[in-house]
Amino acid sequence: MSYSQLLEIANTYGSPTYVYDAALIEKQYQRLTSAFQSVKSLKINYAVKALSNVSILKLMKSFGAGLDTVSIQEVQLGLHAGFKAQEIIFTPNGVSLHEIETAAQLGVQINIDNLSILEQFGTKHPNTPVCIRINPHVMAGGNTNISVGHIDSKFGISIHQIPHILRIIENTKMTINGIHMHTGSDILDIDVFLYASEILFNTALHFKNLEFIDFGSGFKVPYHKNDIETDIEELGEKLSLRFNEFCKNYGKELTLAFEPGKFLVSEAGCFLAKVNAVKQTTSTVFAQVDSGFNHLIRPMLYGSSHDIVNISNPNGRERFYSVVGYICETDTFANNRRINEINEDDILCFKNAGAYCYSMASNYNSRYRPAEVLIYEGQAHLIRERERFEDLIKHQVEVDFGTIKPLETVNVL
Ligand SMILES: *Cc1c(COP(=O)(O)O)cnc(C)c1O
Repeated sequence: MSYSQLLEIANTYGSPTYVYDAALIEKQYQRLTSAFQSVKSLKINYAVKALSNVSILKLMKSFGAGLDTVSIQEVQLGLHAGFKAQEIIFTPNGVSLHEIETAAQLGVQINIDNLSILEQFGTKHPNTPVCIRINPHVMAGGNTNISVGHIDSKFGISIHQIPHILRIIENTKMTINGIHMHTGSDILDIDVFLYASEILFNTALHFKNLEFIDFGSGFKVPYHKNDIETDIEELGEKLSLRFNEFCKNYGKELTLAFEPGKFLVSEAGCFLAKVNAVKQTTSTVFAQVDSGFNHLIRPMLYGSSHDIVNISNPNGRERFYSVVGYICETDTFANNRRINEINEDDILCFKNAGAYCYSMASNYNSRYRPAEVLIYEGQAHLIRERERFEDLIKHQVEVDFGTIKPLETVNVL
């Protein structure tokens, strides 16, 4: 994605606009599969919630990926994109038994993370094999909101509850065909990941009919030059070795599964916004863009720090700016950043905007959600139109107050 191509896209499709580079997504997919090439059966299930545009899902399908879904609507999007039900795993948390049954009816692999639901599901559908989400109670991940494996977490069934799981299996005669963990996002320490994997291997020995072990995701991607990231190659080398040993022990070749979101799409995306105004105050210079946390909420929600490049003036003198949005509430993208001199109407490019950006966008302040563009084989393709006024009122039911009759006066006694 060259700056000139990005400027051309902003010219053609307007701003703000999300842009994704298919070649970079493919590169990450290949990186992950080649790190685990010594594992005979590897399955990458893309975590739909990171970026759920149907064209992105189709792209993942073209690589041979499956899907990891967390809602019945994501399952439906996956089926719409052409995935077979068997290529989709459903890993919800806190949804109704009915939603899980609906997904099972569609033929999707079910992943259950609650003993009560496991017992109810197993009693009603003993012939549907299910995967179990284990909580290994390993503290991994960056922000507390994205670290989900710890003891207070709402996710997974505790490893201390394995005797209870086994009792449910015995009582219901249900089949467990997979076990799963997902300890959170932004894992830095491979040893922590490997430690959690050992817990998962030990757990796996309790289940005789496994077909796969799913190690979840949570790989940390770099946000800046020289930023730390999960060493996928080292993880691949070490975990593949242990996995292959485990399969020998277990007496069966199992599938090793991952479900990355951020790793596949974060760096492949960028967000283009136009500078509406440059505002000098007593303490700082604000660059105010035609967007806000309605379109990119991560800096305000998680404190994530996205690199910002002024692609209209990439060689200009560097100055300090606070980049903010137009939402009537504090919405700061960056504080006191060194950026090439900004003029009004310049296009700023926010990096690492592929994952959890568009998918978390809203209409707050009654703004339209942005357009999305995919660069595929060098060509830009519009994959979602910018919203229009019709979209804002589409589902509203308007009351015509002129025709409402006044309530009749009721005489009580
Ligand atoms: C969100 C999520 C993922 C993806 O996590 P990333 O950090 O984006 O790779 C994978 N599995 C489950 C169950 C999730 O909820």
